[in-house]
Amino acid sequence: RTAYLNGQFLPLDEARVPVMDRGFLFADGIYEVAAVLHGRLVDNAGHLARLDRSLAEIGIRNPHTAEEWERLETQLVEKNAVREGLVYIQVTRGVAERDFSFPKGDVAPTVVMFTQEKSIVNNPMAETGARAITVPDLRWKRRDIKSVALLAQVLAKQQAAEAGVAEAFMVEDGVVTEGSSSTVFIVTRAGALVTRPLSHAILPGITRKAVLALAKETSLAFEERLINARELPEAAEAFYTSASAFVMPVVEIDGKALGDGRPGPVARRMRELYFAFAEKSEAS
Ligand code: PLP
Repeated sequence: RTAYLNGQFLPLDEARVPVMDRGFLFADGIYEVAAVLHGRLVDNAGHLARLDRSLAEIGIRNPHTAEEWERLETQLVEKNAVREGLVYIQVTRGVAERDFSFPKGDVAPTVVMFTQEKSIVNNPMAETGARAITVPDLRWKRRDIKSVALLAQVLAKQQAAEAGVAEAFMVEDGVVTEGSSSTVFIVTRAGALVTRPLSHAILPGITRKAVLALAKETSLAFEERLINARELPEAAEAFYTSASAFVMPVVEIDGKALGDGRPGPVARRMRELYFAFAEKSEAS
């Protein structure tokens, strides 16, 4: 596998970052993940805009324009011959003597990219539906920034893994924030799509945005409002969205089946619509 590190393409297992990198010492960095479908990046402009915003929010200089990023990502996808999977980008505040405050002078950000192969279209879980549990949201108060400080998400996902389910829905003050690596949607018994409004409390999902636009285009009723954790078992359907899962139907939460325990019609429809959108975006 070929990776990218600070201006160079090199074998992944030869890509090394110094111990004094602030990403390693402080998780002082930002990441981004975009899907690859049929060898092309999906909805990449949105991912690169979010990368730029995340970096600006924590005062790391964006080392590349969107055009440069996309060219590097495309080269990496080609070098790895990825047909289906994802591109991972990480930018940290760079290498400096260990000190909490930002280093003085012009320290170059560390830039790392690699790809992962992953079956997105033929994901058997999308056929049966995923199961989820709820866990307390232990994260910091700026979850709109795609920070590499992911310890709370790691612990949440591990709880899910130990419970034998795919995702952990995080709950704070009785309301659902988001999945450990996804945006949560429910479908009410009245048939409306519901997801939480954007704020500092959640990551502005790029897939979320596309799904809401698709709902609007197809005149599907949707509401952006808080979802009480008590609503989850009563929901007609649920699904989660992310660049790597697209739209994933959820059929069970905390051991309780939703509806008839199979992927619901709205989730399946949104998954199909998102695929059509992704195929279109890869052709542009
Ligand atoms: N929320 C969190 C906490 C995430 O980690 C992710 C993706 O990894 C998402 C939401 C979904 O965002 P996107 O659709 O941009 O992948």
